[in-house]
Amino acid sequence: MYDFSKEDPEIFNAIQQEHQRQDNVIELIASENIASQAVCAAQGSVLTNKYAVGYPDKRVYTGNEAIDEIDKIAKRRAEELFNAEYANVHPHSGSQANQAVYAAFLEPGDKILAMSEHAGGHFTHGQKHNFSGQLYESHFYGVDPETELLDFEKIREIALEVQPKLIIAGASAYSHVIDWTEFRKIADEVGAILMVDMAHIAGLVAAGVHPNPVEVADVVTSTTHKTLRGPRGGLILAKAKYAEKLDYAVFPISQSGALEHVIAAKAVALGEALQPSFHQYAIDVIKNAQAMAAIFNQDDKIRVVSGNTENHEMTLDLNQTGLTGHQAAELLYSVGIATNKELLPLEDGNTMEGIRIGTPTITSRNFDESDAEEVAEIIIKVLNNPSDDALLNDAREQVKALVASHPINR
Ligand code: PLP
Repeated sequence: MYDFSKEDPEIFNAIQQEHQRQDNVIELIASENIASQAVCAAQGSVLTNKYAVGYPDKRVYTGNEAIDEIDKIAKRRAEELFNAEYANVHPHSGSQANQAVYAAFLEPGDKILAMSEHAGGHFTHGQKHNFSGQLYESHFYGVDPETELLDFEKIREIALEVQPKLIIAGASAYSHVIDWTEFRKIADEVGAILMVDMAHIAGLVAAGVHPNPVEVADVVTSTTHKTLRGPRGGLILAKAKYAEKLDYAVFPISQSGALEHVIAAKAVALGEALQPSFHQYAIDVIKNAQAMAAIFNQDDKIRVVSGNTENHEMTLDLNQTGLTGHQAAELLYSVGIATNKELLPLEDGNTMEGIRIGTPTITSRNFDESDAEEVAEIIIKVLNNPSDDALLNDAREQVKALVASHPINR
């Protein structure tokens, strides 16, 4: 990074501090990752200076020769990677991608049906504290209380009763493969549009280790920064017949100038995801998560919600440890392990007695299954002995050794 410590020491030093934090922490926040140096360089480039309102060859301002080229490459790579007829790489974030899709397909007051937040859904899928729950009439499905898995018969029943205009599949905290075709059948039966938000699993889909929703959904949204390992941003994929409507919903309905420095970084990340090595990374993400789940399953106080994981993440039920999700996340962070508190899939109560953990970041820094097992063992030790200072110190030393032997390549 350019050394601007003289121009702005406050911000420069804070960035250095964050750099060190990332190096020294075992990052298990399931929605984070380590973008490559090339991705970071593209995002930090002179493209920051350019205003690019509109789409390639139809810009409002002049001077977009290179910008248009970059924009078209990003779109082409997204379409190739996800086998999509149409991609829009302009949404500034996952939330804005969702906003644009709603704007394209819905009128205010229309009914949407999505996974509830406490079952693992995202709050931009109709929660009242978000625009989506304020503009549209939202209804929710959860998971089966016994298996903690999606129950398609139940979802179908709710859909038949609600008659939603749009059904949303996809989650932020759900550790199993989602059968998009089951959602397709339900959407067809009630005449709804099927939207999939694959923000969390986009990297797994790109690598072919999770079924691709693009083949069955009407429209798919994503972030580019989670398992996909790109810059922070959003993405929309759809059938070609929706191209015009979706383009218009992004610009001018919900955005003005495109963030072309971010779009260049998205193009670089999409190019990386098209390489064979990305496939191996995605396989390793899942292997590491499963290795951790197997260790947690040996502990009688920590329960893996739904029993195991088939993707990059899992939620741990900590009710038996007596710790809240917040306390557990703080305790783990005090020894150098970053997680986040998470709702448990309970019908009522909305308790936060869980934490979510994920393996994209540790996999990107080359932790293998035995490292992942060691991390799970440290977590168990810490959560079961929150006041044992000597043990917490040992855990801190173990974390230090693990991060030192897995440096981040930058
Ligand atoms: N959709 C899902 C499923 C997510 O998990 C998230 C982020 O956590 C988003 C959308 C929102 O993405 P962003 O933070 O880029 O707005």
